[in-house]
Amino acid sequence: MSKIVLKNLAKHFGAVKAVDNLTLEIPAGSFTTLLGPSGCGKTTTLRMIAGLETPTDGEIWIGDQCVFSRREGRFVPAGDRGLGLVFQSYALWPHLTVFENIAFGLKIAKVKKAEVQKRVEETAEVLQIGELLKRYPNELSGGQQQRVAIARVLVMRPQVLLLDEPLSNLDAKLRMDMRAELKRLHSEMGSTVVYVTHDQLEALTLSTHVAIMDRGTLQQWSPPMVVYNQPANVFTADFIGNPRINLVQGVFKKEQERFVFAAPGLELPLDVSEDLVRLVGRPVTLGLRAEDFTLSTTPAEGFLAAEVESVLPAGSEWFVRVRLGELALMTSTTYDPQVDSGGTLWIQVKPEKMKFFDEDEKLIIGIGSTYGRKEVA
Ligand code: ATP
Repeated sequence: MSKIVLKNLAKHFGAVKAVDNLTLEIPAGSFTTLLGPSGCGKTTTLRMIAGLETPTDGEIWIGDQCVFSRREGRFVPAGDRGLGLVFQSYALWPHLTVFENIAFGLKIAKVKKAEVQKRVEETAEVLQIGELLKRYPNELSGGQQQRVAIARVLVMRPQVLLLDEPLSNLDAKLRMDMRAELKRLHSEMGSTVVYVTHDQLEALTLSTHVAIMDRGTLQQWSPPMVVYNQPANVFTADFIGNPRINLVQGVFKKEQERFVFAAPGLELPLDVSEDLVRLVGRPVTLGLRAEDFTLSTTPAEGFLAAEVESVLPAGSEWFVRVRLGELALMTSTTYDPQVDSGGTLWIQVKPEKMKFFDEDEKLIIGIGSTYGRKEVA
């Protein structure tokens, strides 16, 4: 297992800063996802780690080997970095059987025949394609072809596995199965995995660590549930989560001895004080995920009456878009709210779930039992 260290890594294409000053330490044995919208620099980062792209600046370390340093003029070619690569298009050899496709790299590396046989069979077993070894690629489904592509890389037993959107050509159900498969494989093989995706669900479900990028820069580097619960800034909060987080612009006020967050249509008393003193009078953004509300079909103390705009059943939960004065909010509940558009629901914000961002859009306070009163800025 090797850790990967990126130090002040940059790649500029003319005026485009595809990756800018990226510093990241990817722990050995982790499953790290590079996540972000199209064009944020994920693939360029992966290609630099792989040795397929020469960085404009910075350093790359794989294990204790420096594979790129601008300052020292060092560049270790892709083939000498000990990596396995799987890309979106699997490009199997069409004229070779599944066995021959998987064995290809071992043969080039002049591994003995008996050893090739053993390793191909073992790897095929792990990926549950042992039955398919005699078939040709055009006799396989998309998902089976993808497994062969992954087997072809795993059979080389790479210390580091780089995957660029390897599941994006598969249908939704198969993608979910393959995610589970990849996760199992990772825990069995223990390699360090760097995985590129723009699919936040994929990142949340697969990763031990997520690096969220936007326009070439790193926005947050955390375990997936930390990204979800304590997004470092408004960009991350908005990018992660489906449906999108509700973002409410407002201001902190002090009224007599209590603090309130005030926005058009919403006034929320806050029962913590000392953390908020410095913020009084300042504009802030409140982030609330759909599940951060309690819904009631009858009036209750501390609940606000909201007009129901639409009800969206989603099997295990219901999404309910409500209106509070000028504010439209997406809420959710795990039971049937038994209400239609135009009806009324009573909603309450779960105080421990409130996430506040400052004028620079950075997370300043996560209030309540989930995070304590700790400042996370
Ligand atoms: P996607 O999810 O769409 O693949 P990405 O996050 O992987 O996007 P990159 O492919 O790394 O993004 O591209 C980052 C930026 O660099 C984009 O603005 C892209 O247009 C630009 N870029 C990438 N490769 C080149 C190139 N060879 N020449 C010029 N610009 C490039």
